[in-house]
Amino acid sequence: MTISSPMIDRLRSGFGGTVLTPADAGYDPARVLFNAMIDKRPQVIAQCASPADVQAAIRFAREHKLEIAVRGGGHSVAGTSLAEGGLVIDLRLMHAVSVDPVARLADVGGGATMSHLDRATGAHGLATTGGRVSTTGAGGFTLGGGGGWLDRKFGLACDNLVSAEIVLANGDIVRASADEHPDLFWGLHGGGGNFGVVTSMRLKLYPLNTVWGGLLMWPAEAAPRVLRAYRDFIEADAPDEVGGGCAFATGPEADFVPAHLVGRHIILTIVFYAGSEADGRKAFAPMLGLGHEGELLVEVPYAEFNCMFDDPPGHRNYWSAEYLRAFPDEAIDAFCGSAAQMLVPSPSQHALFLGGGKAGRETADWPLPWRSAPWCSHPFGVWADAKDDQRGRDWVKLSNATMQPWATGAAYLNFMGDEGEDRTIAGLGRQNYARLARIKAQYDPDNVFHLNHNIRPTGLAAE
Ligand SMILES: Cc1cc2nc3c(=O)[nH]c(=O)nc-3n(C[C@H](O)[C@H](O)[C@H](O)COP(=O)(O)OP(=O)(O)OC[C@H]3O[C@@H](n4cnc5c(N)ncnc54)[C@H](O)[C@@H]3O)c2cc1C
Repeated sequence: MTISSPMIDRLRSGFGGTVLTPADAGYDPARVLFNAMIDKRPQVIAQCASPADVQAAIRFAREHKLEIAVRGGGHSVAGTSLAEGGLVIDLRLMHAVSVDPVARLADVGGGATMSHLDRATGAHGLATTGGRVSTTGAGGFTLGGGGGWLDRKFGLACDNLVSAEIVLANGDIVRASADEHPDLFWGLHGGGGNFGVVTSMRLKLYPLNTVWGGLLMWPAEAAPRVLRAYRDFIEADAPDEVGGGCAFATGPEADFVPAHLVGRHIILTIVFYAGSEADGRKAFAPMLGLGHEGELLVEVPYAEFNCMFDDPPGHRNYWSAEYLRAFPDEAIDAFCGSAAQMLVPSPSQHALFLGGGKAGRETADWPLPWRSAPWCSHPFGVWADAKDDQRGRDWVKLSNATMQPWATGAAYLNFMGDEGEDRTIAGLGRQNYARLARIKAQYDPDNVFHLNHNIRPTGLAAE
């Protein structure tokens, strides 16, 4: 339906935040997502300031038959947080984080980013698992599972979810926790934005001050040796404080990158230690002794570390991932082979992230079949020019295909664009998907929240 000015005036009356239409000056900046390939024009962007605004926006969209998209940090690579011709529930005004340092809990607004979370908790010498950059939305990240530098130490982000306030498709506001709507609470551990709009989350916190880490660099030709050493280092019982991984990248122009690596295909070890430099150096001794050719190593507050690798916005992105049951020499050679095809120079990376630690030991039955894999091959294609779109996508697909012999088959929905329903099911597990579909049928029977890795309500799934 085409939305008229009087309709918008009605929505605006009593709305605490801001309602934008294409006629408003703030409209274009408000529809920019991290992935510059996504260029959608919603009719309405409802920048909500409270749960009541979210209720009003949902009711308005349903009354006028507008598709609803929910936007937090705008990092969905698939661009699910914008609706062409529809209504966006933009949560960015709801970014407050309040910390109870005694109970070690944070109440996090549905539109907060990692930066809001890290800085608020860091002020009390506390932290929790967040994403690997500071600009990702805490909402989309946590509801999809949420892995980062600290997951081996503190578990996945969703493991630390204590409760959530959620506005449902019918406009009701409920709290989900282990005791209240436990089925819905279970679904929020991997089911993403399928069940409603989360306006606030309560997360567990842990003591953490400074962390130590950064990058070690070598030319790409050293990768087979570096990756073997890294695998052996991790598999020799690396402590939970060790996070990070390895990545192929283009050597950036920066003070800490030696001239001979700038603009070249390089292999990095991303060093992360949730503790002091002295302890970190002991833990990382096997990697520090390999003769790297460039380094950046610092001991800094966690909030600062989490900004160090903020990816540049405004690029075109296509991402995917395969979780690996093992990383033998043949897999390393295959990984290096597909990395040789990536776009260089570009901000693309072919990352190898590690699993295990507390995240791997968690016994709760959340619908996250990928969590037990020891390794994750994560190609993320990032480029500037539309003429590279096909090449960028093809490379990511090639990488996934190359790693198939070692893949568990489980996907991580937060790391993927739209790869079809089978991959959504692979991201949740077939049995879990059936249970999630029943929960979806209870809380969102009309599939109002379908711009996401969609779980179709039971009945639709049978079509
Ligand atoms: C640069 C970059 C780095 C990343 N690093 C990591 C990482 O280290 N670890 C990791 O696990 N993932 C990472 N991701 C993936 C990221 O977790 C997902 O893309 C996640 O969905 C982003 O959440 P968002 O709120 O920023 O995104 P948005 O695009 O705003 O939202 C994506 C979807 O999440 C849902 N959603 C978001 N907020 C809410 C809410 N409050 N209530 C209900 N539904 C909501 C909606 O369905 C929405 O369509 C990264 C992504 C990028 C682009």
